[in-house]
Amino acid sequence: MTQQSITKVTVLGTGVLGAQIAFQTAFHGLDVTAYDISDEILEAAQERFRGLAGRYAQDLPGEGDADAALTRIATTSDLGAAVRDADLVIEAVPESLELKRDVYTRLGELAPERTIFATNSSTLLPSAIVAFTGRPDRFLALHYANEIWLHNTAEVMGTEQTDPAVYRAVVDFAARTGMEPIELHKEQPGYVLNSLLVPLLNAASQLYVDGVADVETIDKTWRIGTGAPAGPFQIFDVVGLTTAYNISAVSESPKQREFAALVKERFIDQGKLGVATGEGFYRYTAG
Ligand code: NAD
Repeated sequence: MTQQSITKVTVLGTGVLGAQIAFQTAFHGLDVTAYDISDEILEAAQERFRGLAGRYAQDLPGEGDADAALTRIATTSDLGAAVRDADLVIEAVPESLELKRDVYTRLGELAPERTIFATNSSTLLPSAIVAFTGRPDRFLALHYANEIWLHNTAEVMGTEQTDPAVYRAVVDFAARTGMEPIELHKEQPGYVLNSLLVPLLNAASQLYVDGVADVETIDKTWRIGTGAPAGPFQIFDVVGLTTAYNISAVSESPKQREFAALVKERFIDQGKLGVATGEGFYRYTAG
């Protein structure tokens, strides 16, 4: 194909990431359609969008008109209408292979032939989904990180079947919408970011479980030794301790499961979930 410029974007799912992706895209001047499965959920999504407008205005002063972005987002619970005119569909539905395969099967039938599909899945490889898309050359992963206006990596990862021109069009779209495109040359579980981050967090949790050093010391070592602004336990607090628990609790490593049990007992059971609740490994004050 010749490179197409992406201007009409549809986001499937208006949860944590879907809402952010829709808002980020609209903030950078594109028209966005946000789809979710019911009108009640879409009403809640309006709240999310208004909340994001506040965060953008606060965190990115002078960088754009957050209120204007709200006017560029249309919502619908009709999948056919949502994708009828889309150049790009970004899928951010729950992390279930079965659910995603079902969504792509319906999407493949409803979307025009030209439409590119991108999955935001964190843990499923696009090659596990591609057969259900009906357009293997126009499908790839476009992976955002939570709080995308602050952590603006967009990891672009195709399958062996992705058309290079489609890949370029998505890289270009990411750059035009305020993202830093991270180009992967092949499929990699965890992309680049989590391939680096997860081993660091695992090593830190092992030091903690073994009682080798306290949290502050481990973090300080990482900060001073590498110049990084935050240590692993500060990162755990940002990610949220529920997520840390959910991942560690099902790990094959006994040390990771021990870490999960400690996190539950010492923090989660006391409502300390990290930055979001004002306390996790550290205490946070408003502002
Ligand atoms: P979420 O649970 O917050 O939101 C999922 C949304 O999808 C909900 O609004 C839900 O109503 C909707 N949904 C359910 N079934 C649907 C269907 N059949 N069609 C369309 N929408 C449907 O989930 P999330 O955290 O936003 O994660 C979504 C995707 O983004 C996952 O693949 C996840 O791996 C990925 N992701 C999440 C994060 C994160 O930090 N939360 C970061 C990067 C990537």
